[in-house]
Parts: sequence; structure tokens; C-alpha cells
Amino acid sequence: MAKSYENEHPIKAFGWAARDTSGVLSPFNFSRRLTGEKDVQFKVMYCGICHSDLHQLKNEWGNSKYPIVPGHEVVGVVTEVGSKVQKFKVGDKVGVGCMVGSCRKCENCDNDLENYCPRQIPTYNGYNTDGTLTFGGYSDIMVSDEHFVVHWPENLPMETAPLLCAGITTYSPLKYFGLDKPGMHIGVVGLGGLGHMAVKFAKAFGTKVTVISTSVSKKQEAIERLGADAFLISRDTEQMQAAMSTLDGIIDTVSAVHPILPLLSLLKSHGKLVMVGAPEKPVELPVFPLLLGRKLVAGSCIGGMKETQEMVDFAAKHNITPDVEVVPMEYVNTALDRLLKSDVKYRFVLDIGNTLKAAN
Ligand SMILES: [Zn+2]
Ligand SMILES: [Zn+2]
Repeated sequence: MAKSYENEHPIKAFGWAARDTSGVLSPFNFSRRLTGEKDVQFKVMYCGICHSDLHQLKNEWGNSKYPIVPGHEVVGVVTEVGSKVQKFKVGDKVGVGCMVGSCRKCENCDNDLENYCPRQIPTYNGYNTDGTLTFGGYSDIMVSDEHFVVHWPENLPMETAPLLCAGITTYSPLKYFGLDKPGMHIGVVGLGGLGHMAVKFAKAFGTKVTVISTSVSKKQEAIERLGADAFLISRDTEQMQAAMSTLDGIIDTVSAVHPILPLLSLLKSHGKLVMVGAPEKPVELPVFPLLLGRKLVAGSCIGGMKETQEMVDFAAKHNITPDVEVVPMEYVNTALDRLLKSDVKYRFVLDIGNTLKAAN
């Protein structure tokens, strides 16, 4: 008899999965591997809904492997540890982000940059080393190598799970590109799950923050709710003109194709435009403005495990938390619909621990 998802591994698990490109989620019985020597098994308490969940559920990146149990902003409580686990014990609060494995021996892995390992194993919609599909945090339990698990600080609410993707995705480029120095002036493009975290981290680093958005309706919340210093409407050429050559760096979180020339104009000489959103189609790259000012356009993707722990600890210390709307599991399809319309401030988080109920 062919192995089914329910019996390919020994431990019974339950979650919600999409079976096809409709992306609609429904209850799903599957299984998890036994807790290996270096594995941590934990009960999932909260899981954030990331915009990339939406893309992958609907196969918008063309790489979806169904069934998909999404979820890569996962926080829970350890229920079992393997005999060689050193960092964790039963009862610890833990987090798992976008990856659950990597080769551990390439140059990237050697430098704590598992996020750039060519053999990285994504938390869901990927393959485990045994060839089975990985299933994410919209589920009751997870098993992960301890190397890809972070300690969740005691004073950090567990529902702030979106730090594990939205948080590290914005923290890492601010640090790596040196855009974390007090007194600098940083632009943040787009005010969604990623953008609102970029504003919070940039403010915590002591920089001046200008939010750049197409929508004037976000001005008040950018300034009053998130603490941004200024707001620019990208379509207002007069405003944009007046702000030319004022920014040291920009974190661009927009995942739709958009013109980057106006953004390059906002940068000072040596300014850096870092893209963290992922438009499906190429954006046009105007080269002249790069030459005239030695400007840089770069990309960045999540962060390594060491930096992810550092980010979580920094967030706990400085009280930086994503703004979340906690919803029950059965609300997930409605939440995804609302996310598609940007109708959330700023991240949905599934209350898995209290509301995920087994089908039978
Ligand atoms: Zn994500
Ligand atoms: Zn590697």
C-alpha cells in the first residue's frame, strides 16, 4: 500500500491544507517524523499569516507542491527533545521561521547565513531530506532540528510570531547594509506586514524614518500609530521632488511591480535601495541615477539563525512587536481574503493552540 500523508511518518499530526490552486484551506490529517537526536518537538500555539503564504497557496510563484500546510511564523512550547539536544528542554517557548534545514557545510552555512544556503529546506512547500513534503505551522505540532529553532524570550508575547518572517526580513537588511546608525534617515516603502516592522526597527535603531506610500490614507497611522517621522506620497511629484537626495537608505517592501526611479532619486550619494518584497515580474532598473551618486540597489531575504535569535532578543528588549489581529483557525480563509485586499493591521495571527480542533 502506498504511504499516505497520514502514515508516512510515525507521529499523528493535524492541520489545515490547500489541495489545489484555489488556495482554499480545509482540515488535513497528516504525520510528523519521530523526534530525532537533535530534534525538538513542540506544540504550536500561534502562527502568523504571511503574504507569501497567499502566493504559494495559489501557486503564484509556480513552485507549489500540494497539499500545502502553510505557516512559517510559528511559536510554540516544547513537548519533547532528542537525546543530543543542547539548547532546549520540555516547556521552553520556541519559534520556527522560514526554514527548517540547510546543508550545514557550505560557505553560507559556515557564516551563519543558512538563509542563503542553496540547499535550504523551507518550513513548508519544500522537501525534507527523506523526500517527504515539509508542512508548516498551520498545524498542531512540529518537529525541527534544534539548529533551526530559536528561544522565545519570556516577556515577548507568543502571538508576536510574525517577527520570525516579517521581523527578520526587515531587521537583517537594516543591520547588514549599515542602515542602523542613529541620525541616519531611512525610507520605508509600503506599509504592510513587512513595512510596519521596518518602521519599528528603524526607529529603535535611532534613525529618522520616512514612510513612502501610494495611499494618503496611511499618513496618520504611519506617524501616530507607528511613530514614523514623515510621510511621502509617491505619486505626488512635488513632494517627491522636495525630498530628493535626503535618504541614506530605503527598505522597499512592495511586492507588486513598481517604478524604482522615484525611489533612487530620494537617495543621497552612496544611498542604498534594498528590496525585500518579491514582485513576480522584473522591475525596470534605471542605471544613470546609480552612476551619478554611486548608489546601490540590493536584495535581502530573511536572516540566518544566529541573527534571527539576535533579532528576537532585540525585539524583546526594546519592546518591538508586530501589530497583530489574532483570529481562530476556522477564520483562516476569510483572513486570507482580507489579506489579499490589504484589510489587516498589520498581520493576522492564527490562535492555533486554542482553536485548532482535530477533525475526528
Ligand atoms: Zn513570510
Ligand atoms: Zn549550506
